Amino acid sequence: MSQCVVDGCGREAYGESDKCIFHCEKIESYWDNVESEQTKEFWTEIKMLGLENAFENFSFPIFEEFGWSAFAEKQTIQAPLKFLCCKFKNLDFQSKKFKIILFLNCNIEKQVEFYDCKFESEAIFSGCKFNEEVEFIKCTFYVFKLEDVSFSEILFREIVVCASLEIKHMELANVGFNDFTIKNDAKIFLDNILFYDAFFGKVNWGDISQKRFFKNLEKPLDREIARQIKYTYDQQGDHIVANKFYSLEMALHRDELRKNGSWQDRLTFGLHGMVSSHGRSWALPLYWLFVVGFVFAGLAAFDKDSLWGFGFLALLSVFSLFFYDIKDKRGLAILTFVGSFGFYFIAMRETCLPVNLDYFIAMINPLEGFKNNYEIPTTLGFTCKLVVLYISYQFITAVRKDTRR
Ligand SMILES: [Zn+2]
Repeated sequence: MSQCVVDGCGREAYGESDKCIFHCEKIESYWDNVESEQTKEFWTEIKMLGLENAFENFSFPIFEEFGWSAFAEKQTIQAPLKFLCCKFKNLDFQSKKFKIILFLNCNIEKQVEFYDCKFESEAIFSGCKFNEEVEFIKCTFYVFKLEDVSFSEILFREIVVCASLEIKHMELANVGFNDFTIKNDAKIFLDNILFYDAFFGKVNWGDISQKRFFKNLEKPLDREIARQIKYTYDQQGDHIVANKFYSLEMALHRDELRKNGSWQDRLTFGLHGMVSSHGRSWALPLYWLFVVGFVFAGLAAFDKDSLWGFGFLALLSVFSLFFYDIKDKRGLAILTFVGSFGFYFIAMRETCLPVNLDYFIAMINPLEGFKNNYEIPTTLGFTCKLVVLYISYQFITAVRKDTRR
């Protein structure tokens, strides 16, 4: 009897093959028959082998509940399952509990299905090739890693990820995420992935912030990936989630600029965010137009009495709050608006400047010059027009962005 030619195997060669029952190619039709003598013999041998060691270069026959239970009598598989460079006809796991399961550089010829499975520690698929569709249905993962995996189609349905989700070096075409929940304290690692034709149906991402999304343990997420997810949501018409990923993209951009941007970049970016929420809001620039009108009209009044300068400084300090990461700025915005409005009228009354609409409109109209009888100093008037022009531009780009589609 000759020995298996696979390095370090040493088992007896099987049948006509020069390899053992584990390593020989399962190409003949009788390996596809779950009731065949060969298939039964294979699973019986596996049962005797045990699960402690990694399965390396194994070639598995058709996968079936009978075969599986032959070596895992219990529904819970305590031993870590490691498949290295193995070939599978198919994979079919129903209502199983795993501790660690690893598929490294494996090739799976036909369908893969994990149904009602619990992965209580790590589930890692790395460097694998799935030739037909893959389905994960009603599964709970603790740590779930997909890395460098190629496939024709993947469907996720009723999935819960508890501790971390890691997707790296992959093209996500023909992927459906349906009813996919990532627990709020789970971390999400995404690196070098391309979304072609991904579908997000009812994905519960939890909090979408840079505190949960990373490239790896050391580095924050590439904002290109946030942009791609935003784009995918936009294509689906889900603008609410798209906006959340846009915010994430902008937060990542801001962090990048804080680390290595020039002060001009930071200023431009900060103003853009403050004035129009990065082109997302056309109402915000209008609001700013009024505030700036009030402030400059008030400033023109300070020229008459320097005491008003203190009031203005107080107002500026309120504005400066906008530069900080305040989660909900709405209350503050209303306060500033009402404050500016009151301030404007008090200033006008005290300094006997004309309190009429014409005057105010002249202030915030980007196309109109000041009339001389309002006695506004040239420098102030020029600065005001410059700011008003900038805000008008932000308003126009935001409106165009909304009407472009
Ligand atoms: Zn062998």
